[in-house]
Amino acid sequence: MAISSTEAVRSTPNPKAASENDHRIDVFWHDGMLKHETGRGVFDTGLDPGFLDVLDKHPENSDRVRNMVSILKRGPISPFVFWHQGRPAFISELLSFHTQEYINELVEADKTDENQIICPGTFLNPGSWAAALLAAGTTLSAMKHILDGHAKITYALVRPPGHHAQPSRADGYCFLNNAGLAVQLALDYGLNKVAAIDIDVHYGNGTAEGFYSSSKVLTISLHMNHGSWGPSHPQNGNVDELGEGEGFGYNLNIPLPNGSGDRGYMRAMDEIVVPAVEKFEPNVIVFVVGQDSSAFDPNGRQCLTMEGYRKIGQIVRKMGDKYCDGRILIVQEGGYHVTYTAYCLHATLEGVLNFTHPLLSDPIAYYPEDDAFTTAVVESIKKHERENVPFLK
Ligand SMILES: [Zn+2]
Repeated sequence: MAISSTEAVRSTPNPKAASENDHRIDVFWHDGMLKHETGRGVFDTGLDPGFLDVLDKHPENSDRVRNMVSILKRGPISPFVFWHQGRPAFISELLSFHTQEYINELVEADKTDENQIICPGTFLNPGSWAAALLAAGTTLSAMKHILDGHAKITYALVRPPGHHAQPSRADGYCFLNNAGLAVQLALDYGLNKVAAIDIDVHYGNGTAEGFYSSSKVLTISLHMNHGSWGPSHPQNGNVDELGEGEGFGYNLNIPLPNGSGDRGYMRAMDEIVVPAVEKFEPNVIVFVVGQDSSAFDPNGRQCLTMEGYRKIGQIVRKMGDKYCDGRILIVQEGGYHVTYTAYCLHATLEGVLNFTHPLLSDPIAYYPEDDAFTTAVVESIKKHERENVPFLK
């Protein structure tokens, strides 16, 4: 369905009720993003060893996103969702975050019309570059919608993901840093302080790198403690990567032990993220979400359930209401379990939309939690920040 960017279309009737009770979310999406084909192999390698009858679809496949779209169209939250058509980014828009040289490389790579491995696990096939441009442009539209005063809460439902893409480098399934471009757009609009809070299970290294020297952008990433994974991802995600120059102290890494779970994440949110945002007082929050922190994700080792995602969403909403006049852009990153990712997305948005009771129950959560180790790690991160981060003192 073609929809102009200024015309919102609700998935079900009853717009009055939605706007009255403040549960509205504006979702930006374009089905051209489904055309990014990532192939099959042993998990994300693209390799066929020759001795397996059945190979995985690459984890970052279109099925996962089709389910995210469909749960928002047909799930219990659908009456509160207003849909907007996404659009491709112009090359000139990409240069606010990425280098001209890097963009030229991608444009050239796209011209060859062959399947290419840009870096491990990251495949550029015919259709991929067009999808990446749509992801970037759609995220920019979602941010612009907030900046122009048309909505408080928008969600860029996009793929390929972006938070590993650095100014001059692709990484971890990402080509263009969608969230980073949106942050820069907010700065270009004259906003002075943007907080980017990233709960994807992997370190948001690309976004951190893009604003590493800036005191205007507070990047916070909660992730599993995976460290550097090769030349495309030189950052280690540890607590000592705090930013540099004017930006020193404005990149807060929260590497959490594997299996941290709902209670561990709550502790990290309440005791590290909320106090930092309180001191920073952002004008807008960019909430970078990945459901690969879930208990069942093939690409993560954390144990969040729908309840954990819901609570994180509620905390982010509370901070948004308190510091940013409710302005929150949500940007989609990872999340690779084909069905549970959609459920966890639903729960995240329930939290952000301030539903006090769950709209959708969890079909599979049952993992036991032991948060003793996470508690100790959170305490040590707090201590490290108190001693080293000037704006938190
Ligand atoms: Zn991830």
